[in-house]
Amino acid sequence: MSTRQRFLYLLSALSFTVIISSYLMNSNVIADEKKTEGQKTVEKTIAKDYVCGMDVDKDKALKVEHDGKTYYFCAKHCEETFKKDPSKYLKK
Ligand SMILES: [Zn+2]
Repeated sequence: MSTRQRFLYLLSALSFTVIISSYLMNSNVIADEKKTEGQKTVEKTIAKDYVCGMDVDKDKALKVEHDGKTYYFCAKHCEETFKKDPSKYLKK
């Protein structure tokens, strides 16, 4: 390997390192943005269980349609309790 070749090799290795590290930094930024979006989504999908009062994830919760609105419940027990007397829980 001549000195010139060695220099070019080092130069390309160096620029490769710079490209990789800037790429990694960019992906960290993208990951942070995604995380923030994810938190916003979580806030949007949280609903109140009117029976026990806890916050439930709309995707996982049990759904009950009542007066054109959808209500979410943590468990079958809360769903059944609400169905028996919805007005009792909606007044609260
Ligand atoms: Zn509940």
